[in-house]
Amino acid sequence: MTNLTEREQELLASVPKGLLIAGQWQEASSGKTFPVADPATGEVLAHVADAGRADAEAALDAADKVQADWARTPSRQRSEILRRAYEIVTERADDFALLMTLEMGKPLDQARAEVVYGAEFLRWFAEEAVRDYGRYVTTPEGNNKILVQQKPVGPCLLITPWNFPLAMATRKVGPAVAAGCTMVLKPAKLTPLTAQLFADVMIEAGLPSGVLNVVSSSRAGEVSGPLLRDPRLRKVSFTGSTPVGKQLMAEASENVLRSSMELGGNAPFIVFEDADLAKAVEGALAAKMRNMGEACTAANRFLVHEDVVEEFTAAFTTAMQELKLGRGTEPGSTVGPLIDGRARDDVHALVLGAVEDGATIALGGRFGEGAGYFYEPTVLTGVPHDARILGQEIFGPVAPITTFSSEAEAIALANATEYGLASYIYTRDHSRLLRVAEQIEFGLVGFNAGVISNAAAPFGGVKQSGLGREGGAEGIAEYTTVQYIGISDPYKN
Ligand code: NAP
Repeated sequence: MTNLTEREQELLASVPKGLLIAGQWQEASSGKTFPVADPATGEVLAHVADAGRADAEAALDAADKVQADWARTPSRQRSEILRRAYEIVTERADDFALLMTLEMGKPLDQARAEVVYGAEFLRWFAEEAVRDYGRYVTTPEGNNKILVQQKPVGPCLLITPWNFPLAMATRKVGPAVAAGCTMVLKPAKLTPLTAQLFADVMIEAGLPSGVLNVVSSSRAGEVSGPLLRDPRLRKVSFTGSTPVGKQLMAEASENVLRSSMELGGNAPFIVFEDADLAKAVEGALAAKMRNMGEACTAANRFLVHEDVVEEFTAAFTTAMQELKLGRGTEPGSTVGPLIDGRARDDVHALVLGAVEDGATIALGGRFGEGAGYFYEPTVLTGVPHDARILGQEIFGPVAPITTFSSEAEAIALANATEYGLASYIYTRDHSRLLRVAEQIEFGLVGFNAGVISNAAAPFGGVKQSGLGREGGAEGIAEYTTVQYIGISDPYKN
């Protein structure tokens, strides 16, 4: 007996389940497949071809074979493929949203918002593709000339996580196509279906065979290891956890690969005593609960000035209480399941640990009902500064609240982490914003805003949150390499 509606079954049937190699959807060479399940019900949605080493190598063969031609393809042509892909993804927004809700669990309206966000990377990089400027200048000595040009870095391995199945793929494929790189994409094994459908859209949009290859796999290391050691691969772009990122960087060091790393976060959400508290609560809810807290940008530590902590906590707890757990397709559901049982157990262990460390559960702290991996929206108060939960990425719907008494203390607490991705500052004082922004070590700062991701902005972290930027003018530079041509004095030739 299936829980799936006819529409859901039809959509799932339309998604390619094979590996995409050299423009052909095909079975894994081993004939193996792996299951993809709905985290709201545990029901298996589909079986997807399970790539192994031979398939990964075939994918890199295909990417390498067409790299030179693809690099010479006029940028206008590459741009128009991206633009068409933007239009198709946008036309098929309902399909992409439903597919993400089915395999990842997020509520349908959040999945729709991700389609818009994800599609924007295709439109943005369609616009960037034709604006890849070089320069031609005279040396300071006044005789020789300096010519600088950007070239595509070459075949790339793109590894994406399960939490934003579409946007994490478009954020890499968009700039790689714009720059003229060929690709092997390995999506997360928990959510490969969205990437498979997106790859099909890229083909429909006119991407030549071999430029994008997709090797979904249940054995990530077996796919990535041989490619990272292969001298034909020129770049790895990874979004995922910091421990896996470190391991990939170590592997990438063997061939001194260009590496972009979008890793974990531990975002502080700082509420100063002069903040607009209604706005802060609204932002806190978005920064914490988007994606059920399963976001690298999720507010992880609420640092609230002691003068306003009571008022903020009361209003925020009420807002959290009003959220509704449910399968993402259910009308009115605002909190879907966590991605799997292990994720839910890890979140619960962090909550129990926080209580041991002296925190109080003001709301939640329990599994939700039903077969899915639901966890109740949770608020922890009186969290001591040294509680373990403040030192780790929670990746769930849990908000630990702690206090500070001065701007200097807020800055010190914010920086007391090895991570440096997103941060949030709520204050009415613009000078304070600029002072604090200068002193906190984070790649992204939300000023009176709980969600700031945008295709036109450079997204990325400092410290152990990663290397490089995705989106913005910076995004395409991750996929290009600079070549300098020194030209001798033309008057002497
Ligand atoms: P993850 O376990 O690190 O997995 C991410 C990707 O790496 C998946 O495709 C995974 O494949 C693959 N992978 C895992 N082990 C590997 C190995 N040994 N060799 C090669 N590839 C390997 O992370 P996740 O749980 O999917 O995602 C959550 C993490 O991503 C969080 O830490 C979050 O903060 C971070 N994240 C960061 C950003 C950012 O932009 N900074 C954005 C989103 C998420 P499998 O699926 O097969 O395991």
